[in-house]
Amino acid sequence: MSNDTPANRYARQIQFAPIGPSGHDSITKSRVAVLGCGALGTVAAEILARAGVGQLVVVDRDVVEWTNLQRQSLYFEQDAIDGRSKADAACERLHAINSTIELQPVVADVSSGNISTILKDVDLVIDAADNFLIRFLLNDWSLKTGTAWVHAGCVGAVGQVRLFTGTGRPCFRCLVPEPPPASAVDTCDTAGVVGSATHTVASLQATEAIKWLSGNRQDVRSSLLSIDLWSNRFRELKIAPSLSDSCTACGKADYQFLEGDRAVQSEAAATLCGRDAVQIAGNPDHTIDLRRMAERWKSTGRVQANPFFVRLFPDETHSLTLFRDGRIVVTGTSEISVARTLCDRFVGG
Ligand SMILES: [Zn+2]
Repeated sequence: MSNDTPANRYARQIQFAPIGPSGHDSITKSRVAVLGCGALGTVAAEILARAGVGQLVVVDRDVVEWTNLQRQSLYFEQDAIDGRSKADAACERLHAINSTIELQPVVADVSSGNISTILKDVDLVIDAADNFLIRFLLNDWSLKTGTAWVHAGCVGAVGQVRLFTGTGRPCFRCLVPEPPPASAVDTCDTAGVVGSATHTVASLQATEAIKWLSGNRQDVRSSLLSIDLWSNRFRELKIAPSLSDSCTACGKADYQFLEGDRAVQSEAAATLCGRDAVQIAGNPDHTIDLRRMAERWKSTGRVQANPFFVRLFPDETHSLTLFRDGRIVVTGTSEISVARTLCDRFVGG
């Protein structure tokens, strides 16, 4: 049929006066990274893919799990059964939604060592991360490179959204000067989360991104929007300009989390929150030959392999997933020592 022209596909978006043909053109020439492909990332990525963002970099270190299906819109049951990597599964779905855009899945744990490579040449970053430290790192990187990002977070039925321009005054650190202690922060594993809330917050986040990318920068919300969908509360918090004067990041240009003594390292070994699993960091200087590893493991137990990871089931209870960046996730235990022993036995140096 001759209906499937680009003009037809995006007709309703172009018809919306503030976007128009030139705004839409800017959107199609944009490169956007979605940092984290969970509840917020899947929804924001889908909206941006449908809007025609020309290049999407989809970053996530994890695999799809059964508990994700309640809210993470791009995943199917089979993804959880197969333990597929989120970035890979998400890009496959996004390609089916819009085959005309360029998609780049990145399976990696973002740290100060690799953030500049992963986010190279992007025009905007969607913050859909699940931990606070990454936001401080992203904030520093954004100020250093002058790149905009849209912060969002959602736990329970409460969420917040704000775009930061990358020029500071204010930046994220004006608002949150120090990472809160882990015990002070609710997470989706401790407080639960409502699927409609993450969809709402991700939609608001994608809207700010589309304003920015289409050149409607005057319409970007300057306050932090905070919503509680359960108690029906919508609040706009103004960020006082004076906070920037004492801000370490945008006031003093001291990028502690990117290049200072607080640089965010890949987690050396960490039990993964809410899961019977341990993650062990690899050596960032090594790239793993996954095909060779799969060959080596064949005689040891059942093996799953794809371009992003190789997985071994050495016995009935454990699995080892080795990623290309050398990271290993061991399931079936929350004991770091047990995980290390299995790594030493099956992966080695
Ligand atoms: Zn600041």
